[in-house]
Amino acid sequence: MVSGRRLTVVMYHFVRDLAHSKYPEIKGLSTEEFRGQVEYVRRHFTPIGVADLLSALRTPDGALPPRAILLTFDDGYRDHFDTVLPILAENDLSGCFFAPAKAVTEHEVLDVNKIHFILAAQPDKARILASLFSELDDARGEFDLRTREEYEQQLAHAGRYDPADVILIKRLLQRELPLTLRARITDALFREWVTDDEAAFSEELYMSVADLREMREAGMWIGSHGYDHFWLDSLDETGQEREVERSMEFLRDLGCDLEDWVIGYPYGAYCDSLLEILRAKGCQAGFTVEVRAADLDHDDPLALPRLDTNDLPKRGDAAPDDWALQAAREGGSA
Ligand SMILES: [Zn+2]
Repeated sequence: MVSGRRLTVVMYHFVRDLAHSKYPEIKGLSTEEFRGQVEYVRRHFTPIGVADLLSALRTPDGALPPRAILLTFDDGYRDHFDTVLPILAENDLSGCFFAPAKAVTEHEVLDVNKIHFILAAQPDKARILASLFSELDDARGEFDLRTREEYEQQLAHAGRYDPADVILIKRLLQRELPLTLRARITDALFREWVTDDEAAFSEELYMSVADLREMREAGMWIGSHGYDHFWLDSLDETGQEREVERSMEFLRDLGCDLEDWVIGYPYGAYCDSLLEILRAKGCQAGFTVEVRAADLDHDDPLALPRLDTNDLPKRGDAAPDDWALQAAREGGSA
């Protein structure tokens, strides 16, 4: 039985001409790989936009086209305006863009991105760890901190895409250390290894409000990605509500319809209290980073799974992979 309620969602971050950029070590897709993947997606799936998803969610029997796929882009990078938008427009596709409000409106660089560029600017990760732990040692009198060995034992384990030393840096700076300390250390490392002109770097890195308005006019969907790009599950309910409300204000300023809004969770992180807040505020769909295809008959619309771009081939002529074959089986062969 063909359900017609299956959806493959793909997540992108950086899409740029990496080889000729100032930071070729940044993890992302080259323009050519993105073109290849769009071609691949068109060959093996049926691209839909958020509006199609929302209308399917609203009707219990509302079907999606066979082998439906939705392309989503996180973090509001200028890449999405410069590189992605023209390619999507050429192919008559509508993507969904999750932009963190603070990065766009305050000309700051999000800590998550500072960490990316610290790692990309300094190939010798031992040197970064040396500066990091020296900053951390300076703060021992102020905070209750563990020893370097304890942090290494707890956190330095290779992940899906990163070796152990990179994971250690990311985990310490993304969530392990107390918030004020990790912001302070991230800032110091960013200034040491990347630049001390944060505002100029930010304007180069992220889309502006005008860019995002232009994206909407070109038929793209803009979704919430929080205000400060926090791990939303690590905040108390007041903090969660504040993040949600501030990001909604940002969407309103862009001209988005707040009867019909969606969220991509920073780091894919969510929890029950957050979902309750989102339901109360009329959020229609939420995207996680759980790696599988979505099934609208069974998945909570506020916890839809997403593949990473690396889960699909990046060449138009690549043979269909497991996801495409699974989508073809579940979504018919039209
Ligand atoms: Zn993000």
